[in-house]
Amino acid sequence: MNIESRKKALRYMFQKVIEPLGYKFSPDEELVNFLLEQEVLLEQKHGIPYCPCQGLTKKRSEDMKIVCPCIPFHRKHFDMMKRCWCGLYVHKDVTNPNELKQIPLYKLKRAKNVS
Ligand code: SF4
Repeated sequence: MNIESRKKALRYMFQKVIEPLGYKFSPDEELVNFLLEQEVLLEQKHGIPYCPCQGLTKKRSEDMKIVCPCIPFHRKHFDMMKRCWCGLYVHKDVTNPNELKQIPLYKLKRAKNVS
């Protein structure tokens, strides 16, 4: 399967997972295309569409937490940012993804004073 076809297939499958979680693909189509392409390349290399923005640890139990869409594993963090770490997905009500920043969880917790 070529890259474009696989991107389309991943998009179709991922949509079914993220929709019930309250997320959608970012309105930034250029970013979405770029990230999906990186995932296809990772899938071709490793057999799994790992996250293009998070490093592999070579520890399977940890690496399985960054298989896209990894939202269920990082729900609290992503919900606080209203986006996933890469920005491929955003909350359904987001219209301008550029307003959302990539913020490490410990900084968000500190800012919102939560544990
Ligand atoms: S951070 Fe986003 S793009 Fe990366 S694996 Fe998680 S859901 Fe996918």
